Amino acid sequence: MNDAAAKTVMERCEFLSSISEDEEGICRPYGCESMREVNGVVSGWMHSAGMTTKYDAIGNLIGRYEGEGEETLILGSHLDTVRDAGKYDGILGVMVAIACVEKLVGGRLPFSIEVAAFADEEGLRFGTTYLGSSVYAGVFDDERLKLEDRDGVSLARAVRDFGGNPDAMVDGGIKADGLLGYCEVHIEQGPVLENRDLPVGVVTGIQSQSRVQASFTGVAGHAGTVPMEGRKDALCATAEFILEVERMAKDEPDAVATVGEMKALPGASNVISGEARVSLDLRHPDDEVRERLRDHLEARAADIAAARNCGHSWEVRQENIAVPMDERLTGLLVKAMESSGLPVCRIPSGAGHDAAQMAVLTAPAVLFVRCEDGISHNPAESVTEGDVAVAIDVIDRFIELVAEMRNPT
Ligand SMILES: [Zn+2]
Repeated sequence: MNDAAAKTVMERCEFLSSISEDEEGICRPYGCESMREVNGVVSGWMHSAGMTTKYDAIGNLIGRYEGEGEETLILGSHLDTVRDAGKYDGILGVMVAIACVEKLVGGRLPFSIEVAAFADEEGLRFGTTYLGSSVYAGVFDDERLKLEDRDGVSLARAVRDFGGNPDAMVDGGIKADGLLGYCEVHIEQGPVLENRDLPVGVVTGIQSQSRVQASFTGVAGHAGTVPMEGRKDALCATAEFILEVERMAKDEPDAVATVGEMKALPGASNVISGEARVSLDLRHPDDEVRERLRDHLEARAADIAAARNCGHSWEVRQENIAVPMDERLTGLLVKAMESSGLPVCRIPSGAGHDAAQMAVLTAPAVLFVRCEDGISHNPAESVTEGDVAVAIDVIDRFIELVAEMRNPT
């Protein structure tokens, strides 16, 4: 088993949690001093695991363990965090990858391993996700160089200050030739594994998502003088809509739908609401199902508005298509779990991960690790050393299986 390696991973996650921009709590946005410090520390661990290291154009830290042959398997995750973050989101994936390479020292694989430690996944500073992996995967959009942080510093300037090269970011990716795939270990950020009493699970895909802004318009009026009959109450229409969203998502397997924001106008306790706006976040592993549900909710919004003599609007703000994981690589993860005697649990990922960007470049796979109460993006984020040992075990075996696949006996 991997008890010693898991202990090291836990100690390293703990140590990195002390390197932060904030005095209280963990906060490591892209390009900051603590990010630089973390890169230095992690680079040292990569060297002691037998890797060479380099930084790419945006400052992703890349460790490479040379094997025989031209092919490369990529492992990794991200080292940046949200504000007041936990110790494991992203960091765990990089630490497990280094631990697995560390165990190979002296052994020669029929391929090389790159451990990618991405410099920005959370998008805390520039409000856009996957900056690091988009450069590494060769899909960076240079329009993003104009993005500015809260202090008016452009991404181009931040990259330069961090020691990177903004002009090399569009073509700064790894070559797609000879890649065997990308495998990421990540905390689940949900309660499924804990509820099933399982240490790890294999991800089937990253869910598709629609973000909609809807509004209902009625007629504002005096709460005391306008009779109930004939009112055009925008907030009541919105309330009906919100419950319809919940009902629909509960009736559709694997769907999740959330109204997380609501604003009533004019917003006074003695005034009938003349307008109300709501957000909708709708996710499903299947694009077609999500589109059907989205259209259904749009039609229901129209019905609800019509029944109350209200107007309504519907604006789709953002849609992300589903990213299925690669069947062959995922099959190897399943085999690795089975050979360790683990029950196999397949779950869709509700959150996005670097694997979503890496899927453009190569075959993706993700292994989830159970986290306590499904809590993440929170200092209470917690994983156990025992579960980390299981994850290391599965990835060790996964690497062996990739090698067997390359060298069929
Ligand atoms: Zn993450």
